[in-house]
Amino acid sequence: MKNNDFDSKIKNYFTSSNSFLFSKGRASLYATLKALGLTQGDEVIIPGYTCLVVPTAAQILGIKPVYVDIDPQTYNLSPQKLESCYTENTKALIVQHTYGIPCDMDPIMEWADSKGIPIIEDCCLAFGSKYNDCLCGTFGIAAYFSGQWNKPFSTGLGGMLVVNDDDLAVKVEQLVDKEMIQPGMIHRLRIWLQMQLYEWLVTPRTTQAITTIYRTLSKMGLVVGSSTKSEYSGVPPKNYFMGMTPAQAKKGAREMEKIEENISHRKQIAAFYQEELPKIGFQPVELNGRYDPVYVRYPVRVANKKEVLEAAYRERVEIGSWFESPLHPEGTDLQRFHYTHGCCPESERAAREVVNLPTHRKISMKEAERVVKFLYQTGKPC
Ligand SMILES: *Cc1c(COP(=O)(O)O)cnc(C)c1O
Repeated sequence: MKNNDFDSKIKNYFTSSNSFLFSKGRASLYATLKALGLTQGDEVIIPGYTCLVVPTAAQILGIKPVYVDIDPQTYNLSPQKLESCYTENTKALIVQHTYGIPCDMDPIMEWADSKGIPIIEDCCLAFGSKYNDCLCGTFGIAAYFSGQWNKPFSTGLGGMLVVNDDDLAVKVEQLVDKEMIQPGMIHRLRIWLQMQLYEWLVTPRTTQAITTIYRTLSKMGLVVGSSTKSEYSGVPPKNYFMGMTPAQAKKGAREMEKIEENISHRKQIAAFYQEELPKIGFQPVELNGRYDPVYVRYPVRVANKKEVLEAAYRERVEIGSWFESPLHPEGTDLQRFHYTHGCCPESERAAREVVNLPTHRKISMKEAERVVKFLYQTGKPC
């Protein structure tokens, strides 16, 4: 079977000549850093409001992550704070378009150019988002995407990499030939089964209960989880750098056929939140005309986050929480990942305050109304 269909759809979408498919988004980042030649002693700047797997991909290669704080309005790295993160060892900058909100690319690119360092875009939460009418994923030397369950679209776990530089693409290709593990029969079967179960069982009202069960099974090693236990302490599992299975690529191709529908649905639901939140006393996200976000989840700050999340779980309202720590998930040993408490105060505040509202296709307008009503009854504005 061939993965070419999904691959070529990705290339077309981003008008890029090079793309690659992996088992997870983190494998795409790993491949990029390695192909760029980054190694022991080098540093990479990463927003301090991210998933643990991002610094892990660097640390596996001996690269030190250095964290830049976020802007409280966009949840993306603050361009003004980049200079203080720079050292002579800085070799790359990862920009993450959080929640689907594009980063402020003009000043970021200007800064990175002045230092001569490449930009890698983390598009795991942004598919179709635009800045200055250009797609996120087309600004950097490379951009990586995730097909995990909660992302813009799911390939039942999965990762995509778009490379916007032909020389780098050759190096990634070589790495893939040399090092990438092909998914074995058992893995393919498990992934396929999980994808079927997901289709049948997950609805907005069952999401949270099923997530709890999935995480438990994953800890027991019974399903292919998003992260293994060892990964939380920075040790990569043996199948870390693996390719995507044919079933995942097939799902990806189907998702690409529906991508415009997916995007317009998310825009419609997000526009509803944008309009309703101020009416019930909450602060909507305010962005100027350069930004055209496709929200994967819509962020909102509350003064009683724990209470809101607990009540949402009880009442089966699909309100989520990213990121619960500057390096998600909560309980991460931050020191181990070179994060010093207090180094990104806005990230830490966002981790305390922000909950997120769903925008995906299974959220009807009626369900979105229920989410807003729930927030009105349970949430306290910041
Ligand atoms: C999910 C996510 C990743 C990792 O994606 P995987 O496919 O789980 O490896 C990286 N960065 C961000 C911002 C994410 O949300």
